[in-house]
Amino acid sequence: MIEGVIPSTRALVDSSAVRHNLSHVRLHAPHSRVLAVIKANAYGHGLVRIANALHNADALAVARVKEGIVLRNAGIKSRIVVLQGFLDRDELGAHRKFKLEPVVHNDHQLRLLATCAYLDQLHLWIKLDTGMNRLGFQQSDWNAVLEWLNKHRNKYAELIWMTHLANADDISDSTTINQIKLFRSFTETQSEPVSIANSAAILGYKQSHSEWVRPGLMLYGVSPFPDRTGSELGLRPAMTLLSRLVSIKQLRAGDAVGYGGDWVCKQAMRLGVVAIGYGDGYPRNLKPGTLVVINDVTVPVVGRVSMDMLTVDLSACPDAREGDDVVLWGAQLAVENLAKSSSTIAYTLLCGMTRRVGITEVATPQAVARS
Ligand SMILES: *Cc1c(COP(=O)(O)O)cnc(C)c1O
Repeated sequence: MIEGVIPSTRALVDSSAVRHNLSHVRLHAPHSRVLAVIKANAYGHGLVRIANALHNADALAVARVKEGIVLRNAGIKSRIVVLQGFLDRDELGAHRKFKLEPVVHNDHQLRLLATCAYLDQLHLWIKLDTGMNRLGFQQSDWNAVLEWLNKHRNKYAELIWMTHLANADDISDSTTINQIKLFRSFTETQSEPVSIANSAAILGYKQSHSEWVRPGLMLYGVSPFPDRTGSELGLRPAMTLLSRLVSIKQLRAGDAVGYGGDWVCKQAMRLGVVAIGYGDGYPRNLKPGTLVVINDVTVPVVGRVSMDMLTVDLSACPDAREGDDVVLWGAQLAVENLAKSSSTIAYTLLCGMTRRVGITEVATPQAVARS
């Protein structure tokens, strides 16, 4: 960032909101330990920042080995689980070197483990596929996995059984109940801890809470359900995506705005140009009536979103001036709503911000006093 220059487009992240949301997880699942999911740069919020904010979580989860190494190199001491585990001997070695805990989900990994000299140092998260058909041992292999584990019993440091739900955000779908039942019918006869629940299941399926829950999205204050926002669930959105008005102009009825010119003014109006576009990760395919907030007033986006800019109708906000802040999402404007009006999910919007958008921590009262 350039000293003294406010970047026009930036994401403000409030770590205290993330900590609030962690305590909300504990309220819902008081008897579970929390494996906090911070993959994909902590859903766009900044990997190391969020790992620090979540030092009270019982463990952290990333998708890939490299993310775990970044955390260790930044001095993070928490337990770290790698959700995709290791793919070859080098990645397995990195698990030992950096004290990472692999998810083990296929035979290839079992073969690598069988010949490694440090199995006793590894905490194994064994993933069973209960119907998602992505990662995990298929049901027909579960007994073979059990045999393998019995053969190596007392040779590994710890074992945790896990599975992942495919459809927990749809409370009316029986798939989730069936997945939980299938998983329980197997793990019931085992003595080790188990883990099932993502955010949607933490909030919607109490019977999925177990020794470990695995919240991701809800830690960032965002709802996993299509019909409710995070705030409505008692969560606090951790990110505010901001930009600024770079130009304002008076247009006449009949003037066409932006590429293609397919949006035409019905009457004379003030048009605002905002310094954010799809080059920052703002979605291009918006439904009409998508909103932004300027000076606490909501105004609609009009015309096509371009790479670096979008345009808004300022009719409802006559006092707007060049340089004013524009909120694209945050506590005032749920990212869930923008997801809906761009036919996507909040996950992709949060992870999809490009490198051009700097992330800064919200100034806390203490931080302001120090500066
Ligand atoms: C991403 C992920 C989670 C967290 O999911 P959310 O829907 O963000 O809560 C949990 N478990 C696994 C295996 C994941 O990949």
